[in-house]
Amino acid sequence: MDSTEKQDRRERAKERREKRRQEISLIRSIPYSDHQRWWSSETIAVVTGANRGIGFEIAHQLALHGLTVVLTSRETAVGEEAAKVLQEGGLNVVFHQLDVLDQESIDSFCAWIKENYGGIDILINNAGFNHNVGSENSVEFAEKVISTNYVGTKNMIKATIPLMRPNAAGARIVTVSSRLGRLNGRKNRISDDEMRHQLEDVDSLSEELIDATVNKFLEQVKDGTWTSGGWPQNNTDYSLSKLAVNAYTRLVARELADRPEGEKIYINCYCPGWVKTAMTGWAGQVTPEEGADTAVWLSLLPDMRVSGKFFAERREIHF
Ligand code: NDP
Repeated sequence: MDSTEKQDRRERAKERREKRRQEISLIRSIPYSDHQRWWSSETIAVVTGANRGIGFEIAHQLALHGLTVVLTSRETAVGEEAAKVLQEGGLNVVFHQLDVLDQESIDSFCAWIKENYGGIDILINNAGFNHNVGSENSVEFAEKVISTNYVGTKNMIKATIPLMRPNAAGARIVTVSSRLGRLNGRKNRISDDEMRHQLEDVDSLSEELIDATVNKFLEQVKDGTWTSGGWPQNNTDYSLSKLAVNAYTRLVARELADRPEGEKIYINCYCPGWVKTAMTGWAGQVTPEEGADTAVWLSLLPDMRVSGKFFAERREIHF
């Protein structure tokens, strides 16, 4: 493809994105009708890493829809400050400390939720970390990136599934992931076909396989051989952490699929787009408000039937 064709392609992609942004902004202006609103002020939504960025906006929008939102943050002072901003706007938001890298913090959060609310209806796994900005590709913080984005998310899902309250509309888990973690993206994918196929096959997918994949990468980071390991070339540690989260989403959806009506838990992940937040150095194409939209949409979908899927801009996309 020559450079003019590439330029045309980029322009067309930009136009499609802009059109979709306008469509979503229009859809968002239509309020949910009474018969669609399965939730109430008693519905409990928990958002991780909600003191800023996309997480704060997800908390804000869910609260605007009338739910009770538990805004969590690893730092108490900044989390309380963020919750105060929303409370002062008249929204039903409470704060609790939660560090997804600290099992004691997860356990004490879950004990507090159980005692105060009896359980959770919606969990948004938003907390995340990326050391690199733009085209940098350092793996200096690979362990922290994988731990926060994959292990922390996994530990939150494991800790909260027993707390999910039975509900005719189904409890929901939504994880903020990234297109960078796609298994079969045109660019930036694992080059080993066999590894990709194993991670793609939902019937044989296991936690051991996902853990072994990220651990293999971390071992190569330690012994300095990761650059020839066939890993995603762009934001390698972050891409792999989100690929692991996506695979884990499909695995948990399979494990939860047999739950009876009334006790369903739907688990999905989505890409918010390239969002202007601290993580991107405030570069990006969309605002945190727009980046939060698909999480809120998946959380509230009136006739929820999808689980184990990947979304962007309110549409299913390929893993
Ligand atoms: P921010 O850096 O603004 O927000 C990240 C949030 O995660 C912060 O609140 C941060 O807390 C929190 N966090 C980090 N580590 C932990 C931890 N151990 N326990 C609890 N909270 C933690 O970035 P974004 O808002 O952009 O990112 C939100 C999510 O969106 C992430 O999962 C990210 O990977 C994902 N995403 C973002 C994209 C973008 O373009 N911005 C694109 C695709 C995905 P603290 O303030 O204390 O550091």
